[in-house]
Amino acid sequence: MANPLPSCPFRVGNGYDVHQLAEGLPMWLGGVRIDAPLGFVAHSDGDVAIHALCDALLGCLALGDIGHHFPDTDARWKGADSKGLLRAVAALVRERGWEIGNADITIALQRPKIAAYIPQMRATLAEVLGIAPDCISVKATTTERLGFVGRGEGCQVWATALIWQVPA
Ligand code: MG
Repeated sequence: MANPLPSCPFRVGNGYDVHQLAEGLPMWLGGVRIDAPLGFVAHSDGDVAIHALCDALLGCLALGDIGHHFPDTDARWKGADSKGLLRAVAALVRERGWEIGNADITIALQRPKIAAYIPQMRATLAEVLGIAPDCISVKATTTERLGFVGRGEGCQVWATALIWQVPA
């Protein structure tokens, strides 16, 4: 039987990213500035949630990862607003004839508590992607003080995205 997948009008992708926390840096997460004494060590603004979401979208079309598209050796991306990277990734998806369906993001962070920021993250990410906020899910968890997240050393994010092929 022929593989039906090449003609399947849906594709899914997953993304994963980790960033280390350090004092005195701004914390950007899901496109939102979080009030915290710590921020993420990174070449860009360190928005680990957006980076995982970018990788999920790129994964849908087997387009590699954000390190390939926006290398951290390139001075253009130094301190870059990750919303710009997400906008560029969405454009890559649309250029190929696909539209973004929905995305689901899980953020593992011990502190600060970020639940209050989730509505703003969903609205911000939806606006950047040009889709409805009810198509963006953001969930947050601690790791019950276990592992590097639990020790407050870093943040870990998983993202899943679904895209659909625009009928020709
Ligand atoms: Mg990253």
